[in-house]
Amino acid sequence: MPEKSDPPSSLTSESPDDFAAHGSRQSHGAAVEELLDAVGPETQPALARMTGGLRGRVALITGASSGIGRAIALVFAESGVHVAFNYLDTGPESQRLAHQVAAELRDMEVSVYHRPCDVREPEEVRAFVGEVVEELGGLHFLVNNAGIGRDGALWRMGDEEWDAVLDTNLSGAFYFIRAAAPILRGQEWGKIVNVASVHGVRGEFGLANYVSSKAGLIGLTRSAAIELGPKNINVNAVAPGYIRTTQLTEQVPAEILDQAREKSVLGRLGDPQDVAQLVLFLCSEGARHITGAVVPVDGGYLL
Ligand code: NAP
Repeated sequence: MPEKSDPPSSLTSESPDDFAAHGSRQSHGAAVEELLDAVGPETQPALARMTGGLRGRVALITGASSGIGRAIALVFAESGVHVAFNYLDTGPESQRLAHQVAAELRDMEVSVYHRPCDVREPEEVRAFVGEVVEELGGLHFLVNNAGIGRDGALWRMGDEEWDAVLDTNLSGAFYFIRAAAPILRGQEWGKIVNVASVHGVRGEFGLANYVSSKAGLIGLTRSAAIELGPKNINVNAVAPGYIRTTQLTEQVPAEILDQAREKSVLGRLGDPQDVAQLVLFLCSEGARHITGAVVPVDGGYLL
C-alpha cells in the first residue's frame, strides 16, 4: 500500500539570510522547532515518487470509452496503472469504442476491467466499484469524468434535459465518491479528480443545466476534500475549456468553437491529452499538497 504523504520539506528549510536580517536567530529557531513539534516529524518527500511511482496502482475512470476519459485512461496505463472504466452503452458504436479502448490499454500491459454501468444508478455504481476492487485488487484513483450536455434556452428546457444532465454530471460523481470513500478511507490514501468545466465557473447561454451540474460538482469537490482530507485523500477538480475531437464538442456549432478559440489567450482549443496530463499530475505525489482545488485547463479562456 502506498505510504501516507509527508509534509513538504520546504517548511523545514532555513534561509540564513532570513535570520541574519532579524538578528534573532536563536528565538526564530526555537519558534520554528516548536512549530515543527506541533505539525509532526520532519520527513523528506521522495523525489522519485514526484513523477513516477504510480505503477501497479488501480484507477477507476468513469465514461472512458471516448474523448477525455479515454485519454485519461491511456496516460494512466502509460504510467503502469491498471484501469477500470465504465460507459453508458448507447448501442453498437458505444460498445465498439469501449472495446477499442480496452484493447489499447491491454496493449500497454496493464490489467483492464470495463463494462457498461450507468452512473445515474446508485446500486449499479456500488456493484461496479466492488467488482473493480475484486478484479483489479484495489482502488487508488477515482476520476469522475462521465458527462453529457443537453443544451437549450432555459425557458424551453424540458425536465428530461435538466434531470439527465444533473443526474449524470453531478449525482453520478456523488454516487461514485460515496461508493469509493470507504475503500480509500480504509487504506488512508487515495486521489479523486472530478472533471468539471470552465462552465462550472462561469455561466453561458443555453447551458443552464450543464453550468448548474458543473458548479455543483465543484461544490461537491470542496466538500469531499474537507471530509476526506483527514484520511489522506486528495479531492480536486479540473475545469477544461473547449476540447477538440470528442463526442461532446461534435455537437457544438462551429461558430461557438471559433469564439472559444478567440477567447483563449493561447488562441487554440485543447486536446483530450491536455486534460489527461493534468489529471495524472493531480494523482501523483507531486500534487500531494493540493486538495479542494479547481484547476483550469483552458488555454486562458477564463481570464
Ligand atoms: P464524450 O466523448 O461524449 O464521452 C462521454 C463518456 O461518458 C462516454 O464514455 C459515455 O459513454 C459516458 N457516459 C455518458 N453518460 C453516461 C452515464 N449515464 N453512465 C456512464 N457513462 C456515461 O465526452 P467528453 O467530451 O470526453 O467529456 C468528458 C467530460 O469532460 C464530461 O464530464 C464533460 O462535461 C467534460 N468536459 C468536456 C469538454 C469538451 O469540450 N469536450 C469541456 C469541458 C468539460 P457512452 O459513449 O456509452 O454514452
